[in-house]
Amino acid sequence: MDIYSIIERFEDSKENNYFLKTGLIDEEEALKLFKIDNWRDLLKLFNIASEVRDYFKKEIEITSTIHISNICPINPKCLYCGFAAGTSREGYYKPFKLKDEEIFKAGKAIEESGIKRVSCSGCSGEDSIRATKIIKENFNLEVLINVGSLLSEDNIKNLKNLNVDTICCNLETINESLFKKLKPGEELEDRIRVCKLVNKYGIELSSGLLIGIGESYEDRVNHLFYLKNNFDIGEVPIMGFNPYKDTPMEHVKRCSSIEQAKTIAITRLIFPNIRITSLSPTIMPELIQFSLLAGASNIATVIPKNYPHNIKGVGNPKTANLDDVVEKIEELGLKPKLNWEKFREYKKKY
Ligand code: SF4
Repeated sequence: MDIYSIIERFEDSKENNYFLKTGLIDEEEALKLFKIDNWRDLLKLFNIASEVRDYFKKEIEITSTIHISNICPINPKCLYCGFAAGTSREGYYKPFKLKDEEIFKAGKAIEESGIKRVSCSGCSGEDSIRATKIIKENFNLEVLINVGSLLSEDNIKNLKNLNVDTICCNLETINESLFKKLKPGEELEDRIRVCKLVNKYGIELSSGLLIGIGESYEDRVNHLFYLKNNFDIGEVPIMGFNPYKDTPMEHVKRCSSIEQAKTIAITRLIFPNIRITSLSPTIMPELIQFSLLAGASNIATVIPKNYPHNIKGVGNPKTANLDDVVEKIEELGLKPKLNWEKFREYKKKY
């Protein structure tokens, strides 16, 4: 397969944007791209994916995080989880639930830093509603909610009324036997149900892949095209597995940054104009440029210096610092999406 033929296809159909619906590659081509095993072809792939990203996205989004609670009702726990109470001494370990004023303080710090978007994760519909209400009533921040499958239709209606911007429900893998093995306390169907409801209420849907957990390249291709063919999707997070100590998967090898970048690039060719997210704890904070070189348009789990709480990433305790992320985006000649006036004030102060 001639990788550069994809860019010709892109150039030829720019005027009618035909490829927005179909994507720039089909399943067979995606699988061939996943099988790339040499740097020359990888660099070509990253080049094309970045060209496509730059055509649609003039700025790189930065998303911060508030963890509302780690008291997860799913039992047994997911085998890789280091986030829920009691799962990993490297994680939060002790149960917590932020009070309203703690959510407010985190939102205030994020807004003050110039960041424009926040992801609020928690462990119940009530967590998601409380966080959205506090953030939307007090701050000018875009809000993504992620409480996995723990959302009822009523919760989603309420979130819509509170003007939530995005609801994330990651299917993680659509290989059913792998899903059942890694997530024995959950049903894939429940996550699919939430994604369908998010689309039903016209809220932007984010749904991502957890990779490096034993899935095949065919599984990844099937997953990406399942999302493409069944949902109206606004964001795909690509999360590489990164082991947490004390969990049943602590000795499984981390998913390499190159593998994550390759998946990001292929996702960009399937979904040319959407937000493709790389999470700093899974790619590793010092390696976010891999994601940017591969066509990501959003770096998530970015924490400003004025953040008031202890924070541990989902997938890995390390998170990226805002100042470093801005520097790394700019080093590549890309433009971070920030409230620059606030960011300059924040830089002076901290
Ligand atoms: S990964 Fe999410 S759903 Fe699974 S146990 Fe951890 S917090 Fe609960």
